[in-house]
Amino acid sequence: MVEHELLWKRMQDIYPFGYALARLISIKYTQIYKDVLPDSGLVEGEARSLSFNVGLDDKGDPRLAVSPSSMILFTAIAEAMLEIVFSKLAPEKNLKEIEKGFIHENKVCPNPNCGAVNKVTDENCRECGTLLK
Ligand SMILES: [Zn+2]
Repeated sequence: MVEHELLWKRMQDIYPFGYALARLISIKYTQIYKDVLPDSGLVEGEARSLSFNVGLDDKGDPRLAVSPSSMILFTAIAEAMLEIVFSKLAPEKNLKEIEKGFIHENKVCPNPNCGAVNKVTDENCRECGTLLK
């Protein structure tokens, strides 16, 4: 397993709800970015930094200054939290559905002795070679 995949797997195992919420934020980030910055000019392989700064406004008050990409992150976090709050009646179920979605998005090896998380594009398990569904 690649190092970061192992890290995601551990996070999912140890902090399942936090991880599911982080996944929801990530999904919302993608959607909001596509909605509000369809002409961002972002190209494959490019990685833009998210920056958060504080400066004084014209009244001398500290003011948060963020790049558009960072503002989208704030909005994604807010949207994810609102979704959780509004689905308060069955929040656990909702997060479990998100986790299920994650498992669909990634292919989990059906071999009971393996269970490795593979990329959705993988045909065979990267750990044991079992054919993935
Ligand atoms: Zn496997």
